[in-house]
Amino acid sequence: MRFNILTIFPAAIEPYCQASLLGKARAKNLLDINIVNIRDYAADKHRKTDDEPFGGGPGMVMLAQPIYDCLADLRLPPQSRVILTSPQGRPWTQSLAKELAAEQNIAVICGRYEGIDERIMPLVTDEISIGDYVLTGGELPALVILDSVARMLPGVVGKEESVINESFYDGAAFDHPHYTRPADFRGLKVPEVLLNGDHQAIAGWRRQQAAEKRKRVRPEL
Ligand code: SAM
Repeated sequence: MRFNILTIFPAAIEPYCQASLLGKARAKNLLDINIVNIRDYAADKHRKTDDEPFGGGPGMVMLAQPIYDCLADLRLPPQSRVILTSPQGRPWTQSLAKELAAEQNIAVICGRYEGIDERIMPLVTDEISIGDYVLTGGELPALVILDSVARMLPGVVGKEESVINESFYDGAAFDHPHYTRPADFRGLKVPEVLLNGDHQAIAGWRRQQAAEKRKRVRPEL
C-alpha cells in the first residue's frame, strides 16, 4: 500500500512514521509512506498556500490550487481514496480502517487554519473526522488514520491474532483486561482464573470482563 500524506508541515509527520511498527513496516516494504509538502506546489515565489476568506471573517483559508496540482502530480490510479481530514467529516472507526486497508493507494489531505477552499471537494472521496473536537491541523488525524490502517495490513503487527482479538475488530466488542508478571504486584493480585491453565475458563472470564466493561463505559454501543 502507498499512503500519501499532503501537508504543509512534513516535519510533524516524519518522526512518527520512522518509529516502532510503522518504521518497521516501511523497512520491510509492507507500506510505502509518501509525505508531500503542499508548499512545493505553491504557484508564487513566496510559496504561499493560503489567503483571506471571501466574505470576511477571521483566519486564513488554504488555497485550492496547490492541492489540485499536488494530487495531479501523485498520478493516483482512478478510484483511489482521497481523504480530507475535517471535524465535519464522517467519524473514523475501526471498520473504516479495515475497509481502507484493502486499498492500494490512499491520499490524506491535512488542513490548517480555517480549513481548505471548498472547491477541492470534487477531488475528495471521503471527508473524515477523528472526533468531535477541533485540532490545529490535519496532521494528527492523518497519523491516526495511517496508524490504524497500517496495523490491519498483513505482517505489520507481529501476530495477526493480536489484531483479530482487539476492541472494535468485530463490531462493538471490547478487548479483555491484560496482566503480566509479577502475579502479585504490591499486593494487587492477578485474577486466579488466569493462573490455572484452564483455557475454556480463561476464555469465558475474558469474554465476560470485556462485555461488562463495554456496557459500563459505552452503554450506547
Ligand atoms: N474551521 C474548521 C471547523 O470549525 O470545522 C476547523 C479547522 S481546523 C482549525 C484546521 C484543520 O485541522 C482542518 O481543516 C482539518 O484538516 C484538521 N482537523 C481539526 N480537527 C479535526 C478533527 N476532529 N478531525 C479531523 N481533522 C481535523
